[in-house]
Amino acid sequence: MLTPSPGGNAHKESLYDLTFSALESALVEDGLNAIHTRALWKALYRGGGVSRERLERFSPPLRRWIEARIGDDAGLFSDTPEVIADNASSDGLTRKFLLRLEDGQTIETVAMGYTGRMTACVSTQAGCAMGCVFCATGQMGFSRHLRPGEIVAQVLHARDVVSQQGGHSLRNLVLMGMGEPLHNYDAVLTALEIIGDTRGINIGPAKITISTVGVVPGILRLAEEKRGYGLAVSLHGATDAERSTLVPAGKRWPLDELIAACRTYCTRTGRRIFFEWTLIAGTNDTPAQAQRLGELLAGIDAHVNLIPLNPTGGFAGGATSAAAATEFQRVLRAAGIPSTVRQRRGIDVVAGCGQLRTERERSAA
Ligand code: SF4
Repeated sequence: MLTPSPGGNAHKESLYDLTFSALESALVEDGLNAIHTRALWKALYRGGGVSRERLERFSPPLRRWIEARIGDDAGLFSDTPEVIADNASSDGLTRKFLLRLEDGQTIETVAMGYTGRMTACVSTQAGCAMGCVFCATGQMGFSRHLRPGEIVAQVLHARDVVSQQGGHSLRNLVLMGMGEPLHNYDAVLTALEIIGDTRGINIGPAKITISTVGVVPGILRLAEEKRGYGLAVSLHGATDAERSTLVPAGKRWPLDELIAACRTYCTRTGRRIFFEWTLIAGTNDTPAQAQRLGELLAGIDAHVNLIPLNPTGGFAGGATSAAAATEFQRVLRAAGIPSTVRQRRGIDVVAGCGQLRTERERSAA
């Protein structure tokens, strides 16, 4: 028997939901062995997948096992999402995909290129419950959690596209697409175990960054489990009052709790935390706010990413000016906090989270 998908979100089950050990248990329970597990794992992650047309390459017992699963449930191997949009940025460095899942939900995946290496940005939920006011995904609301296999499939898609481009390899992964990863903790961590398996995709914790809006129980759980993933915490405000107007989750997990959880994460994992700050003109881009941010992060091994706002239709704010960003950064530097002003990559492919799906739905309407 295959095990149920972690997180209880699945409408159908997929082999891509299973870690190596879960797959092995399923096979052993049905009388197969470790050699069969390795053969099937290799086919899934290094051999182009498993389909009815490609069963000849498996030994008879494994072929029968797979055929039985295909026969039992046509959805078993279906974690090959349909690509309904594939937009390349004008500089050729960013490609954004809108993928349709089996139940019709659409999610976004981005492949971002740097010289010789690529980073995939994947979604963890269809929609998002966190409601950040400047975010197109937050504006559309929450539909459902993704299964582990639906997260893994995005990485496989990005990897295959990247390898077709030649000269690049997929080295890094960021969970900064649609959804709040720590709101879908079990499925996300199962997916990351599959993605990090050295016998398959092999992108390990040091190359993976989980982005969170500040879900304190999730941060503490990561710390407790010493997971070692990179962590990016979205702040956008350095007081509860200012932050909550942009990030409603700030009312549930106030800054004192959030910063305490971040300190715990640093101590337990030994990892620096990245703090994300979307710079919105006239809202959170003043020197006084930079000063407060510096005070808030004092004593934490922190790096601040300053990201000029990607404007969305549902939010009236605009991107900060280059001069304001530079001054913000200067104040942070004086406070001893390193920072980077991020490029607004892929604006021409609507690469802000949720923007491609929103634009497609608007066009369809
Ligand atoms: S910024 Fe992230 S957490 Fe906030 S609404 Fe958008 S997807 Fe959700």
